[in-house]
Amino acid sequence: MNKAFHIVAFGRIQGVGFRPFIYRIAHKYGLKGWVLNTNRGVTIEVEGPEASLNSFLTAFRSEIPAAARVDEIITEEIPVRGFPGFKILPSRDTSDEVTEICPDIPVCNDCLRDIERQERRRLYGLVNCAHCGPRFSIIKALPYDRANTTMQEFTMCNGCKAEYENILDRRFHAQPVACNVCGPKYRLRVNGNMVSDDMDTITDAISEFITRGNIIAVKGIGGFHLACDAFNSAAVSELRYRKQRESKPFAVMFRDILSLKLHAEINKTEEDLLNSWSRPIVLLKQKHIQEAVKSLANELNGGLGTIGAMLPYMPVHYLLFSKLETDAIVLTSGNISDEPIITSNIAAESFFNGIADAVIDHEREIYNRLDDSVTRVLLDKPRVLRRSRGFVPESILLNRPVEGIVACGAELVNCFGIGKGNSAILSQHIGDLKNQPTLEFFTESMNRFTNLFRVSPYLIVHDLHPEYLSTKYALDFKNDNPAVDILAVQHHHAHIASCMAEHGLDGPVIGIAMDGTGFGTDGHIWGSEFLAGDLNSFERICHFDYLPLPGGDLAIKEPWRTAIAALHYSYGKQADFESVPGLRAIGEEKTRLVQEMLDYKFNCPLSCGAGRYFDAVSALLGICLQQGYEGEAPMKLEAAADLSVQDEYQFMAGTTVDFRNVFKMIMEDLSKGKGPGYISARFHNTVISAIFEVAGRISEERGLKKIILSGGMFQNKVILEKLAGRFGRSGLEVFIHEKVPPNDGGIALGQLVIGSAWRKRNER
Ligand code: ZN
Ligand code: ZN
Ligand code: FE
Repeated sequence: MNKAFHIVAFGRIQGVGFRPFIYRIAHKYGLKGWVLNTNRGVTIEVEGPEASLNSFLTAFRSEIPAAARVDEIITEEIPVRGFPGFKILPSRDTSDEVTEICPDIPVCNDCLRDIERQERRRLYGLVNCAHCGPRFSIIKALPYDRANTTMQEFTMCNGCKAEYENILDRRFHAQPVACNVCGPKYRLRVNGNMVSDDMDTITDAISEFITRGNIIAVKGIGGFHLACDAFNSAAVSELRYRKQRESKPFAVMFRDILSLKLHAEINKTEEDLLNSWSRPIVLLKQKHIQEAVKSLANELNGGLGTIGAMLPYMPVHYLLFSKLETDAIVLTSGNISDEPIITSNIAAESFFNGIADAVIDHEREIYNRLDDSVTRVLLDKPRVLRRSRGFVPESILLNRPVEGIVACGAELVNCFGIGKGNSAILSQHIGDLKNQPTLEFFTESMNRFTNLFRVSPYLIVHDLHPEYLSTKYALDFKNDNPAVDILAVQHHHAHIASCMAEHGLDGPVIGIAMDGTGFGTDGHIWGSEFLAGDLNSFERICHFDYLPLPGGDLAIKEPWRTAIAALHYSYGKQADFESVPGLRAIGEEKTRLVQEMLDYKFNCPLSCGAGRYFDAVSALLGICLQQGYEGEAPMKLEAAADLSVQDEYQFMAGTTVDFRNVFKMIMEDLSKGKGPGYISARFHNTVISAIFEVAGRISEERGLKKIILSGGMFQNKVILEKLAGRFGRSGLEVFIHEKVPPNDGGIALGQLVIGSAWRKRNER
């Protein structure tokens, strides 16, 4: 007897070869009906003998395409209609419930074989199929059909059209399908002149440029990259100079995992992450190189001890490495310092003039800009530190409704979020909004996200900081749309809520937020917060002592100022700065000036940011006196720590954590000639113990067992891993970020769920 089912599937099922997969299994089991893509998901009606239907449903769950992910299937029995066959129906735009848009996918092995063997695709640098290739970067509107992508301007040749229409072909309904005959081409430009569009010629020339120590620009999936030989110090220094990037580490793309293993220590989890579907940058421990191996240029990371590594993910990367002599190239975003990555060919032509010695672009327009994502394995799990290519715009499923909520994020590491049903859709990494072009990128992306995902905002959430440009955006938005509600959320509350959202927690919890800077409800700068609360509200129970920051923001760029402030805090006017070897390079005059600022409390805003404590110690040890990039001083301090050291300094924990003794003991260690490895480790151990002790006390007083860790400091491997271990052994349950960054890139998610809780309270 025949039966019939109506099936709706939600998840990452658009643009990953899902419909042909359904078609194939329906045919395999002799079933009739249809499959249809809507912006809600995939809808199927299927009928036939019961046993065949069961086989179909089993295959449906177990054999789904590699790039697909099914979150939910709703199956309902319906009357048999007697369909004549099984069909794929044209896409339909049925509702505003957009579920998922697929992130961009690295080139698959079948496509890599095609560029060797298939005549029409020989050396084709933009080869793709239903299982791989660009997705989010080319999407302008939904549903995901070629007409709604930047591939719309390329008319398929007969060969591509036949593949696109053949259900049994890997390129069936692969929207960006293209080949040498009909698709966008790569082109080499030198000094602004088009030199060649022949891939053989291009890769030969690029290989020569790189070998000679030149810098090239190459258009990728989400924007242009700048590249040079990662072993060539002069080339890497020149790239720093031209890009105006002083010391922030460069990412390196290795030819393959074997060449990478010569330069970095990697475990199985890290190897899997490097090869994963998102193909992100992975922060790895750099190896000490034996004589026999050529070492990477020191200018890549200034001896940081970690290296941001990735593997090829676009066809053109493989084509380049097939000709390159070097096993590793710097691959950094094509921009000046912190501005957004360049995406358009026209902008590239003038922009790279004087920056790149040769440019390869391609004719496929990048609609949505994306940087490479950055990850790190901590506690043996992949953690996202910068969420962009390969992750965005995948939604994060929440335990509460967030429809119509727009979260503006923070400022320095901005990422915004919009709420759709019970899902948070977070933007790609936007960057530092204080750059005018970055602010424009923010506004443009905000408009695109709300249009693409069909969100009508009715609550806009922003950080409590009155001066953040994201706050100003929210206020302007409210001005233009008076009916929209507006809500300000304290920065560290948002950090904690972000991590709670990832784990589906509503509270109450103990939230420990450790970062550099966040505007506090007392008007001071917070950043070492022990909070107790839930999504509705929080109580600040403890924090590190406030330190004065001589010169305000300048002290963040110049940690030596904070070092002097720390000694002033510990010793008062008797502080003996001259005896600190690390500070001698600053000179007596500047040191004295800062001391006077501290004495008179002149331009010394108060901060308890944990990052500032790390800055101070880093400077006292002479490790980092001036920061070339956000987090340099703490990262270098972490890298210096000798992990065999078990000692710690004596802090005092009351209503605040008092570090005066800690700095005095550091001074004693310095006078005894103890090295940075020892002092750094001893300081790390102290911070771990301080957090552990305070959290334990709060747990006893409040009867709370769930500990949330958030904020940029928890990207520190030493702190996070030791601390989580101690909490684990003491029976407290620790929650850590996985999918969103612990840094300010995760703030928007917290704002969304706090917004949701607020709305629930205010509903009548
Ligand atoms: Zn492919
Ligand atoms: Zn073609
Ligand atoms: Fe923060």
